[in-house]
Amino acid sequence: MNYHQYFPVDVINGPGTRASLFVSGCEHQCRGCYNQSTWKPCSGHEFDIAMQERVLSDLKDTRIKRKGLSLSGGDPLHPANVASILALVKRVKAECPDKDIWLWSGYLLDELADAQRAVIEYIDVLVDGKFEQELADPSLVFHGSSNQVIHYLT
Ligand code: SF4
Repeated sequence: MNYHQYFPVDVINGPGTRASLFVSGCEHQCRGCYNQSTWKPCSGHEFDIAMQERVLSDLKDTRIKRKGLSLSGGDPLHPANVASILALVKRVKAECPDKDIWLWSGYLLDELADAQRAVIEYIDVLVDGKFEQELADPSLVFHGSSNQVIHYLT
């Protein structure tokens, strides 16, 4: 898996102070996408074991207490990303059980393949659905268009 950006301290993407990872790879091609540079799975930088360690280390850092981890992109549930995301969320839940995980995906919860659903087992909140430009509403919190649904899973 590749990623485009990692913010070790983020107060915009999800509730509270968080760490946020924006991965590469998205096949939804939403009109008006704010992040087209992430569409190619090979774009950005490799999310290697050192980056995985960095995310875990930041979540464990007691100097800046983070509420959790936000995973966006791109699409964390793109088939090219599922294995790496699953490994990451498993580690977060095992080593930082008090942290919540939010994940944004263009795939719908009801339509996920088994491999994607395995990731969902470890996350707390899924924001699903493509960005629909006709339904865009800047007043919405944590999603861009009104078709997208915030699923509180835990
Ligand atoms: S799901 Fe997100 S990243 Fe992918 S095309 Fe739609 S708006 Fe862009």
